[in-house]
Amino acid sequence: MPPKVDPEKCRGCNDCVIVCPNRIIRITNGKAKVVQPEACVECANCIDNCGCGGIVGSKDRHEGYLKIMQINSKRISLVTKD
Ligand code: SF4
Ligand code: SF4
Repeated sequence: MPPKVDPEKCRGCNDCVIVCPNRIIRITNGKAKVVQPEACVECANCIDNCGCGGIVGSKDRHEGYLKIMQINSKRISLVTKD
């Protein structure tokens, strides 16, 4: 399930916009909005990076996303090895 913005708590700081890998969060009228929820990969980055509880949802990361992260971290360690 994609996260939802709590407009009472959101202060429009833009942090969730920056960390969303699919760039599906926008600031509209000073508040964050998930504009394309069907494209959410359930990474929970936005929830983790909001300092005021302005975006809420499950912090259980989607297993497909976790798999991608594992593959990427293996690639990075291969690249950084001598
Ligand atoms: S990080 Fe939190 S406070 Fe900042 S724009 Fe996103 S939801 Fe709002
Ligand atoms: S859970 Fe991830 S993909 Fe979904 S809106 Fe938040 S940062 Fe973007």
